[in-house]
Amino acid sequence: MTQPRSTQLACPRCEVRGAFIIDVLPKDHVDEQGRGAECNRQWDASSCCTCLHCHHQATAGDFIAKARGASVARYDHAFTIAFSVVSSHPMARDVAPAQLRAAILTRLASLADDELNEAIGAPYDSYELDAPSGEEP
Ligand SMILES: [Zn+2]
Repeated sequence: MTQPRSTQLACPRCEVRGAFIIDVLPKDHVDEQGRGAECNRQWDASSCCTCLHCHHQATAGDFIAKARGASVARYDHAFTIAFSVVSSHPMARDVAPAQLRAAILTRLASLADDELNEAIGAPYDSYELDAPSGEEP
């Protein structure tokens, strides 16, 4: 497998080059006794890549496509997050918008980044955005 070089990547969002975190998988040749001779770290176009400049995440393939000048598909994702508000009405008709805002902000502030992913989960709706004018679809 020919591994792409990091110089062949560009962030699809901010177009910066050369400042990424790529999720790598360790691979090793194991001998008859189960010992590893050397640990190789490999990544490919399907590996998750994070831009250190704008924190955009996509596959390394998307970063490679951007570096080659190709347009990269973009998607709009709708997410939800649960939060709760205590009130005196059984259907929450006495809950003011300000209480909703405060409850959402409290919920967000109470979660670490890794907990936020778990609390939100997968998007309930996603669609591909149209290519910006001047770009090939
Ligand atoms: Zn970026």
